[in-house]
Amino acid sequence: MNDGTNREAGNSRIAVYPGSFDPVTMGHLDIIRRAAKQFDRLIVSVLNNTTKSPLFSVEERVELLKEIAKDLPNVEVDYFRDLLVRYMRSKQAHIIIRGIRSVTDFEYELQMASMNRQLDEGIDTIFMMTNPKYSYLSSSIVKEIAKFHGNVSDLVPPVVEEALRRKYPLDRQP
Ligand code: ADP
Repeated sequence: MNDGTNREAGNSRIAVYPGSFDPVTMGHLDIIRRAAKQFDRLIVSVLNNTTKSPLFSVEERVELLKEIAKDLPNVEVDYFRDLLVRYMRSKQAHIIIRGIRSVTDFEYELQMASMNRQLDEGIDTIFMMTNPKYSYLSSSIVKEIAKFHGNVSDLVPPVVEEALRRKYPLDRQP
């Protein structure tokens, strides 16, 4: 009998949580932890988006994610540059995880989910509502606070706080 712990790769429920994660916040981490409980494997994948100019390189973002997800055995960290649906197929994954904070998120996410479905009918997007504690939280807000040396300790994991301090040293004014 299959107790669900030893499934064939083709049958296991693999989800991908794509995003910029520039940098990963407590809001992202909350989604990662909750999604990891629902799937056999969760691949958190950093989008190498050439049109945005990120604060952290893809390598740095991947390292930070690996560090914060190290206690979650079914979570892998990766990056991609391809069309998301093509990347999903290469990973044999059928579920995209996205977080929703507000109506503004919803409109954009609905458009993305519909487009991805149009590109590949076998791929579905599952939305997880933000933990209300983090509904106001975004990577951009964190970067803005960190730039002016404000306290971000409740907003990001400690390893990210340290990385932000290195990007914006106290002896350098923005
Ligand atoms: P992207 O550029 O792909 O939107 P982000 O890193 O900003 O990348 O976000 C990745 C995903 O995480 C998106 O689905 C976003 O809505 C979600 N997300 C971001 N911040 C939060 C938060 N505080 N709570 C819940 N979900 C969030």
